Parts: sequence; C-alpha cells; structure tokens
Amino acid sequence: MNVHARVAVVGVPVDSNSSFLRGPAAAPAMIREALLSPASNLCAEGGLDLGADSRWRLAGDIGTAERQPGFEVVVGGIGGFLKGGECVIALGGDHSISWPLLRAHAAVHPGLSILHLDAHPDLYDELDGSRLSHACPFARVMEEGLAVRMVSVGIRAATTHQREQAARFGVESIPTGTDWRAAVASLHPPLYLSLDLDVLDPAFAPGVSHYEPGGLSTREVLDIIHRLPVPPVGADIVELNPDRDRHGVTAVVAAKLLKEILAKMLA
Ligand code: MN
Ligand code: MN
Repeated sequence: MNVHARVAVVGVPVDSNSSFLRGPAAAPAMIREALLSPASNLCAEGGLDLGADSRWRLAGDIGTAERQPGFEVVVGGIGGFLKGGECVIALGGDHSISWPLLRAHAAVHPGLSILHLDAHPDLYDELDGSRLSHACPFARVMEEGLAVRMVSVGIRAATTHQREQAARFGVESIPTGTDWRAAVASLHPPLYLSLDLDVLDPAFAPGVSHYEPGGLSTREVLDIIHRLPVPPVGADIVELNPDRDRHGVTAVVAAKLLKEILAKMLA
C-alpha cells in the first residue's frame, strides 16, 4: 500500500451547511466510483497514466455522512496530510468545507492565491442565520487573511450584498462570458483551486443543488485547469449532489476534472 504520496485525494462528506438541499455528503464515494469505473481509464488528456503512477493515492474520508466532521476536525485532518508532505485534493461535500480546508493550507503555504470557479460568489456575511453556510466560506477566508489574492471565474448570480463584499475584500470577479485568460495567466504560487461544480452549465453538470443556467462548458473548465500557470498546492471539488445526478453524469464530470487537476499537480 502506498502510504505516502505527493497528492492525497481526501473525501470530506459534509452537507450540514447547505442552504437549500442536502445530498453532497454522499458525493466523495460517487466521484471515486466514477474515477475507477471500467467505463473509462485513468489517463489524463496530456498523456499521464494515473493508473500507473504511484505519486497519488485515494486516502479515504474524514468522517462519514452520518457522523459529519466538524470544522476543527477537518482543519486537523487536512493539516495532518499537509504536514506529512502531501498535497490534498478534497472531494466535497458542500462549499462550506473550503474555509477549514483553506485554514489548513494557509498554515503550511502562507501567501496563498485562490482561483475560485463557481456560479456564486459565496461571500455572504451570513445566510439564514449561519456564518458557516456554504454561501459564506470566502467571506471567512478573506476576513481571516488566509489568502493574499482571490480570483473568481464563472460568477453569474451575485447579489448586491455579495458585490459589496467582493469590493470590500478585493476579490477579482470575472463574470461568465468574460475572457478569463489574462486573470488565470497572472496567478502566482502558492495557488489553491476551489471548484464548485455549479460553475458548469446545468446542461453539463445537472447533479448540483443550485441550478444556474448560462454556465461554463466542461471543455472550458478543462481549459482553465490546463492553462494554470503553476501547479496548485491544493484543491477542492465541491457541491456534487448525487440525489440530483441523473445517470451519474455529473460524478463522471467531477472525476474527469479530478484527473486533470491531479495531472496538473503532478506535472
Ligand atoms: Mn460555491
Ligand atoms: Mn455555487
């Protein structure tokens, strides 16, 4: 068994901070199943055969959907991988997990830049009385100074409050339909990639809780990953809701994006 790799893929089955629908806690297992399905293979588009590469591993879940890990458990669990010298790709779970994920990463990688792919800014000060909501993680991240720069791509559902929050925190928001290439090319290390699957158009990724039409294609998100100017030191793929995922198509999209992020991190 490979107990120490360069990249650990870690499930974080949390959906207790979802504002609309539960379901994403079941996602890590679905993404792993799609990744390992004999319907496809483990070769990334650039040619790296992840099936023959021992530099990454599936490292299980932190907690379970029935006993969901609290914030401090996620910080400690992810911090353990990072202190062991591994990079982490976390499989959500809803987007609330990005706050503890980024707190763990910032402790090891000061001066983080974040590339945030999402239909939503996730910058609410609070939603429905909760500051832990999946609509709030990047307000907490920026308040705590866990990143020196944040670029959001794909945003198409920003409220007035969230636009004010983006201005307050200096978040650079690239709306859907606007050319993101220059912003992506300007990203500096250490880079963290946070990928909410609802950045994709629901035609490409129907298995999410919040449908927001007019989104990116799978090809465009793959282009963003391929064009990252530096390998990310950490990443998350969040908001897959298996209850909404007809025929498991969104789990396959998530697994495809995971493969390409893995290949980028191992490049
Ligand atoms: Mn989000
Ligand atoms: Mn979203």
